[in-house]
Amino acid sequence: MKEGGESKDQQLTVALRIRPISEVELDDGAVIIAHKLDEQMVVLMDPMEDPDDILRANRSREKSFMFDAAFDYTATQEVVYHFTTKGLIEGVISGYNATVFAYGPTGCGKTYTMLGTDYEPGIYVRTLNDLFSAIEETSDDMEYKVSMSYLEIYNEMIRDLLNPSLGYLDLREDSKGVIQVAGITEVSTINAKEIMQLLMKGNKQRTQEPTAANKTSSRSHAVLQVTVRQKSRVKNILEEVRVGRLFMIDLAGSERASQTQNRGQRMKEGAHINRSLLALGNCINALTEKAANKYVNYRDSKLTRLLKDSLGGNSRTVMIAHISPASIAFEESRNTLTYADRAK
Ligand code: ADP
Ligand code: MG
Repeated sequence: MKEGGESKDQQLTVALRIRPISEVELDDGAVIIAHKLDEQMVVLMDPMEDPDDILRANRSREKSFMFDAAFDYTATQEVVYHFTTKGLIEGVISGYNATVFAYGPTGCGKTYTMLGTDYEPGIYVRTLNDLFSAIEETSDDMEYKVSMSYLEIYNEMIRDLLNPSLGYLDLREDSKGVIQVAGITEVSTINAKEIMQLLMKGNKQRTQEPTAANKTSSRSHAVLQVTVRQKSRVKNILEEVRVGRLFMIDLAGSERASQTQNRGQRMKEGAHINRSLLALGNCINALTEKAANKYVNYRDSKLTRLLKDSLGGNSRTVMIAHISPASIAFEESRNTLTYADRAK
């Protein structure tokens, strides 16, 4: 297994994380049907009860899927961070853009991977820590300024999670053609402990509405945007030379609207979520296809518009897909594994 982002030519890295089975699932009589086979392979077993059904359906009961990295319940937060995101830091400091996504159905561990807990912090905090140390160690004629913003995209509307009272914010292109969220709060360098508190507080501001399928289904995409601005000190002229941007995104649950028996407002949200996940999937597919000139339609959703300069080109993309190992999650797991499979 390579360190995430180690090889410069790999534009897209796809990882798969299987969370531990939960008490609730065990109480429901669920068994484990998703296993990590090796550092890259995951196998999913069809929990169909009657083996004759499988024979009749004329297919194998097991299907394996391949990724750049596979993680199961034994993987620590540090290991997941190390093999997915750590390797992006150097590029961001050098002025390149990168994006890390947590993808998967509600309840499968996206927020755990990205935000984590006080005791088991996730990718957000680990990345910022390493970014600060890397900048401290860089002793050249450069001055670095790191700033971060935390926002959500909900129903195709953008809200500042660090200051929700600002209302809905617009996307604008600045004079250099770089997409900006107009009026968003930008926090400059603070220490790791403060960052965790800030993000925990911000996360509580996310729009989370109970649905029939899940008590707290995340209906919004949470986006942590980190900008590293580099200025040259040569000749005492502070000139901005490079800007690197890193997006770390806790996507809305990928479960289907139909499965949550959504009506009315919830249905509309479902449609919006699927629209942005679909638009994102289309953009990522276009990146993986070697056939050049494939038109990437970033304008299809707010999320892809925001990421316009951070998908494709010189940018690096990491997708961490999440599944539950439980038999009751079979359909969702199969959908997620199929969406994220690297062997296509
Ligand atoms: P999501 O954000 O995808 O809806 P969460 O991150 O909230 O899912 O995870 C659901 C529950 O499972 C939470 O209680 C979380 O702490 C727990 N969990 C998820 N992944 C792990 C993991 N790798 N190890 C331990 N607990 C986990
Ligand atoms: Mg979540």
